Amino acid sequence: MQLFTIAIVTCAAYTYAIITGDIKRAEIGYAIYFAGIDWILIAFLSYARQYTRVWLDSYAAPLITVTIAVVDNISLFSNYKWHHAFILKEKYLGPNDWFYAFDINDYYLVHLTYCYIIVALIVAIFIKKTIQTSGFHRNRYSAILIMFLGIILLNVLYLFFDYPVDVSICFYAIGAAFVGYYSLLYNPKTFVEYMLTTITERMECALIAFDENDNCIYSNQFANRLFCPTGDKKIHEDRFRKWRVGKETNSISNTSWNEVYNIDGDEYRFDVHFNKIYDKKGYYCGCYLSFYDVTGDYIAYEEEKYRNSHDSLTGALNREGFFEEVRKILNENQGVEYVMVCCNIKGFKLINDIFGPEEADQLLIRCADTIREKIRKGSTFARLDADRFAVLMPKSRYTEELFMTGMNRVSSYIDNAQYRMVILVGVYDIFDREAPVISMVDGAFLAIDSIRNNFKNSIAYYGDMLRHEYMTEQKIISEFEEALQTGQFAMFLQPIVNADKKVVIAEALVRWIHPDRGIISPASFIPLLEKTGYIYKLDMYIWEQAVRRLAYWDSLGHGELSISVNISVKDFYYIDLYETLVGLVEKYSIAPQRLKLEITESVFMTEKERQIEIINSLKEYGFLIEIDDFGSGYSSLNMLKEVPADILKMDMAFLSIEEKNARKGRKIVNTIVALAKALDMLVIIEGVETQSQVDYLSQTGADYLQGYFFDKPLPVKRFEEFYLD
Ligand code: C2E
Ligand code: CA
Ligand code: CA
Repeated sequence: MQLFTIAIVTCAAYTYAIITGDIKRAEIGYAIYFAGIDWILIAFLSYARQYTRVWLDSYAAPLITVTIAVVDNISLFSNYKWHHAFILKEKYLGPNDWFYAFDINDYYLVHLTYCYIIVALIVAIFIKKTIQTSGFHRNRYSAILIMFLGIILLNVLYLFFDYPVDVSICFYAIGAAFVGYYSLLYNPKTFVEYMLTTITERMECALIAFDENDNCIYSNQFANRLFCPTGDKKIHEDRFRKWRVGKETNSISNTSWNEVYNIDGDEYRFDVHFNKIYDKKGYYCGCYLSFYDVTGDYIAYEEEKYRNSHDSLTGALNREGFFEEVRKILNENQGVEYVMVCCNIKGFKLINDIFGPEEADQLLIRCADTIREKIRKGSTFARLDADRFAVLMPKSRYTEELFMTGMNRVSSYIDNAQYRMVILVGVYDIFDREAPVISMVDGAFLAIDSIRNNFKNSIAYYGDMLRHEYMTEQKIISEFEEALQTGQFAMFLQPIVNADKKVVIAEALVRWIHPDRGIISPASFIPLLEKTGYIYKLDMYIWEQAVRRLAYWDSLGHGELSISVNISVKDFYYIDLYETLVGLVEKYSIAPQRLKLEITESVFMTEKERQIEIINSLKEYGFLIEIDDFGSGYSSLNMLKEVPADILKMDMAFLSIEEKNARKGRKIVNTIVALAKALDMLVIIEGVETQSQVDYLSQTGADYLQGYFFDKPLPVKRFEEFYLD
């Protein structure tokens, strides 16, 4: 564009110089014309460098040429004054036909030399490029070179043979357009074809094209390798015939599918795409098929699938894989009855400790191998986790003997003097095949639970009794959330009295007021909610009820009364106890000392340090910590030293005071009370039922008493009626 503009201006200046009759104006016209030639050449040189990418990184050369051009231009324009470059004279073509032509002076040679140096540079650039380029592009450079040389030749002729008019000037603009065409529009067809064929040949996919008569007109190297391994170049067209049938107007025009091909004995997977091509008027011209090798992706996908569904240690299915497989087998074999058999190694943790993890791993592998050997097609099995295995098999194949021999074989593996391994098996008869697989597995493990105390390999069945229990559990879980939402859970309060028999604390105990089944005691649902992890929802609900009540009592002037709430072991894992409890007392602005927290010793069975840390933070905030059911189970005196509890709570039920060991029982109570005192702890004795118990306990120095003797857990309203005066 730049070149074109300069060319036009130069032409115009020259034409003006010739046609004007005024010498001054003609002189200016010529000066512009000569200067224009400088700029045309510089622009062309710059274009040549850009276009050919030859000597493109030189920065000095353009600067020098431009500087010289500027100086030359100044000199040419000052010719007006000194006439050192050219002078004008009238040139007659006929008697009345004349114009101003120029005669050169010394300086003009300098200008001319400069111009020809640039011409030489341009020519050199194009020659260099024409030699170096591929056959496809040679034309493009040589054409411009020839055009350029042509113009220069005309110019030379004009100068040396004293033509009246510089005809080359007319070609400048034409030349510029020519250059534009070659550099922007010209793209040799053969070159494009060559590029496209090379690309398709090299493509990592097989391409086959057919004409309208189903003749194969093209197949790339990949396709030939794939379909003509013997080397004959003819693609067997029949195998794709069903897709082509081009003339049927309603046949599919684009589709894709997956196909497996055997190449040199190996299986390859391809994504095959089929496309028909129509001309602009809609007539069918032909079609092509492209085949993409997706074997790698497929293998990666399969491996990933395998990894996700299998256990890396034993190669058995994992839980997810098993559940999916069971569902599939049950759906696909509607007529077949199945049983779910689960196995569990008793005390597997012990095996890990005694024999080390490697040996334990070997044992698990052995278990898996034995099961794999015993079960046949149509069955499936998995290692669900740790030492728990599950087998789904047709009922008709199941025999006790099959499992007994398997269990004996595995347990003999590790039998030695100190340790005898016991495997327990639970069998669940799948009577409800639409039920979730997990409930079948749970059923089998429930059966195992019923024989947990056996000391030899044994098998248990998920019988009617277990089934019933299981059903109730399922029912409770399914009803729980709704019951919580609809306020079916109520807080009952049981009074706790001090030495003066005055009620100072109440224990919050939950009751489920079921619309059909009446009041359900916590023993029937708390263990289940603990097992399934829902307990924290219920506990949070009860705590809030308790705190709200405390705030209410405060408003009635009963700020001395406090409430003990129960905290389940699971609460330590499911929620942030500190945040929850602190949040509650802050929300209702009550003193934390009035909310006593009952935890059982079992909290310290796992992750003791963590739990102690949580308790410490609660205590620091101001809550009082009670150890509930002290002495009932896992209890170590050491714990009392480590756990920062404020109150020890002991249940009479664990002390057979009235029976024949009464004396011992009393001694224990005395000792524990004394111990608690020594540790600066208060003592609550709960489960107090009789007057004689009260009489005795009053002397022991126990701080508080709780039990049916005083009152049973009461609905809040009743409690308030009796004890808030
Ligand atoms: P716990 O914390 O040891 O509660 C004391 C249990 O003993 C209560 O049973 C209470 O009704 C009962 N009891 C009170 N006085 C006497 C007595 O003189 N003799 C006898 N034999 N029993 C008496 P409940 O209310 O059935 O609660 C059973 C257990 O359920 C509680 O034992 C506690 O561990 C749990 N629990 C109750 N409510 C909740 C709760 O809101 N959250 C949590 N996590 N657990 C709760
Ligand atoms: Ca309690
Ligand atoms: Ca208790």
